[in-house]
Amino acid sequence: MIKTRFAPSPTGVLHLGGARTALFCWLYSKKVGGKFVLRIEDTDLERSTPESVQAILDAMDWLGLNYDEGPYYQTQRFERYLEIIKQLIEQGDAYYCECSRDRLESLREQQMASKQKPRYDGCCRDLELQPEDGKPMVVRFKNPQQGAVSFRDHVKGEVKVSNAELDDLIIKRSDGSPTYNLSVVVDDMDMSITHVLRGDDHVNNTPRQINILYALDAQVPEYAHVPMILGDDGKRLSKRHGAVGVMEYCEAGYLPEAMLNYLVRLGWSHGDQEVFTQSEMIELFSLDGLNRSASSFNTEKLNWLNQQYIMNSPLPDIVVLVKQRLDRLPVEYDDNLDFSAVVDLYRQRVSTINELVDSILYCFQDFDDYDVKAASKVLKQPALEPLRCLHDGLSKLENWDRASIHGVIESITEALQVGMGKVGQPLRVAVTGGSFSPPIDQTVELLGKTTSLARIRRAIDYIAINNPS
Ligand code: GLU
Repeated sequence: MIKTRFAPSPTGVLHLGGARTALFCWLYSKKVGGKFVLRIEDTDLERSTPESVQAILDAMDWLGLNYDEGPYYQTQRFERYLEIIKQLIEQGDAYYCECSRDRLESLREQQMASKQKPRYDGCCRDLELQPEDGKPMVVRFKNPQQGAVSFRDHVKGEVKVSNAELDDLIIKRSDGSPTYNLSVVVDDMDMSITHVLRGDDHVNNTPRQINILYALDAQVPEYAHVPMILGDDGKRLSKRHGAVGVMEYCEAGYLPEAMLNYLVRLGWSHGDQEVFTQSEMIELFSLDGLNRSASSFNTEKLNWLNQQYIMNSPLPDIVVLVKQRLDRLPVEYDDNLDFSAVVDLYRQRVSTINELVDSILYCFQDFDDYDVKAASKVLKQPALEPLRCLHDGLSKLENWDRASIHGVIESITEALQVGMGKVGQPLRVAVTGGSFSPPIDQTVELLGKTTSLARIRRAIDYIAINNPS
């Protein structure tokens, strides 16, 4: 049974890089009919918080990355790690070390001065020290001194490291807590993880972890270390580039489907295809399609994808999302307005749900002010006559439908001998407050007669006050 795991440390929100790793793990397990495990690596008691755990769970939930096992918490498995440390000591693969901080520091300085790589020199390796009350001691893994450790990484290819490069790493701190490399190994072993997909910032840990797995006679998983995500300036992705926490994208009105689609393409490709349904992603995903080079985050591309999903998702799904946001505002939308039609009209032209909400707000509440530019350009004396005629013509309309509204506008352009823009644009600014909207006859139809006429009157008054002749 193939098993992948996502093993975040809950020291903050779930970042795009983490979400992408989780997605790859999830996709691979789905593709091969395996299992996906969520493991919370919360052993760093100072930096881990329950809020971060919750933030990770919420983000996984929002993205729909459901796990088959877990969440496991490393803090609940301390006994097991200590048991394995004891076993390693007993079988001669680990030892107590009493080297003081001062000694290690001066060793380091000496090594640096003679241009050597800083490493533990194995001082206590063969001393067979026993723990003594009150004496701070760590436990170190006895890394083999001969030979090399190698693995075939699905992204990086063959990785081989000489054991002479690796020193005896600490597996238990002097406060008794197990270290990251030890707990990861024990978990991957106990949870029968077959495929470790993670960020390539961990690639240097892998040979060390493999040596511990060998010492435990455990199966070594396959590895895929994915390159990191960069900002569009080629620098490591950070706050400077915009939001890095996944849930910020949820807040900003991105759809989880778009986010997943965007993330999968950041580091994996299948020809030139950009848009993938979830089942296509699962079907086409392969470890060998993972990119070798770092990928750059690009907000425009994400916006484009989000727009595709907003346009093509079932309308009721989009309506729900819009309503959720409108419900947070002091806005009444339960009137005669055809809500779905408004959403449908506008979803063709926005990149996020928030933008959609912003652009339809005028339908439900009177705007406070006109868009400054639009008003100064359009709401002037020459617009007065067209607006008066519109008010007159539209108030007489019996059938409030698009075609009839269009007919009124057209007959005014003919009567006044002016182009469409001279009538349509004042009408647009009058009813929407700004100069962009879907076709004006459709907009006016959706707004309804009462609101449209009231807003035309308001524009006429506005011109009279602000641009008296
Ligand atoms: N907890 C580690 C991290 O968040 C990941 C460890 C792993 O995947 O092995 O960076």
